[in-house]
Amino acid sequence: MYYIAKAKNILFTLFCCCILLSNVAYAQDKSQTAPPPNLPSELFDNTPLTPTKVFDNLYCIGTKSVVAWALQTSDGIILIDSMWDNNDTQLIIDGMKKLGLNLKYILISHGHGDHYGGAQYLKDKYNAKIFMSNTDFYYMNNTFDGVNGSRSPKCTVDEFLTDGQQITLGDTTVTVVSTPGHSPGCVSFIFPVKTQGKTYMAAQWGGTGIPKSMENKVQYKSSLEHFSQYCQDNNVVVETTAHLFADNGYAKLNNVVNSTFIENNPFYLGQKGIDNYLNNLSLEIDRAIANSIK
Ligand SMILES: [Zn+2]
Repeated sequence: MYYIAKAKNILFTLFCCCILLSNVAYAQDKSQTAPPPNLPSELFDNTPLTPTKVFDNLYCIGTKSVVAWALQTSDGIILIDSMWDNNDTQLIIDGMKKLGLNLKYILISHGHGDHYGGAQYLKDKYNAKIFMSNTDFYYMNNTFDGVNGSRSPKCTVDEFLTDGQQITLGDTTVTVVSTPGHSPGCVSFIFPVKTQGKTYMAAQWGGTGIPKSMENKVQYKSSLEHFSQYCQDNNVVVETTAHLFADNGYAKLNNVVNSTFIENNPFYLGQKGIDNYLNNLSLEIDRAIANSIK
């Protein structure tokens, strides 16, 4: 039952995100008064979440709309994504205070405003390096509607991410997986998390939401297979996401507080759970492709 409920949740989320990213030029501007109908209100909800230690070296910071993940290393912080804008960066800064504010790297999963919008401010403030794929750097700089509206400042990029690249800071290495489809140069990440002295491998699928065009859907499907292989090869057992409204993330974040043991951590799925997660994503994209052909 658990996985059936989980699958339903994923399907609903992907459906909503698909509509969001393909049909609605919404931009989440502060000037917008009401969210478009038939979309989860969470997408437009900037309510801050309590910064939460999810693993000994991984912290979740953000809002109900989107979060950034701070990966603590022996030589500073790697931040995965940077939320929407300069208002959000204050949340990120507050959330990183406990970690010493030693921000070194900002890894951007893709060129949508809710992921890159805070990056330039943080780079300038902490002299951090920004990483993004070359393709999405171009895409970001040439897209001004939808989620790439004026709310989210464009950023410079210090290093372009490529498939299979390993980004190392101190004792921690993040593996980059090229997963285009959601955006032209979307990437996903695989990285180690620690609890009670043990290390486990985590994965974050870079783009939540199935794209509109058939060409991009097919690319998304192919990227998912590529990512699944990486997950298998790296023994991934933990799943994180930038959008906690996907996959029951709010509840997970609340429940993680009292999870001393890895088995009780809601972000720990185990290998079987990861397989199910990826299979459900695969089934969803298959359905989206089939529906496009009808
Ligand atoms: Zn996106």
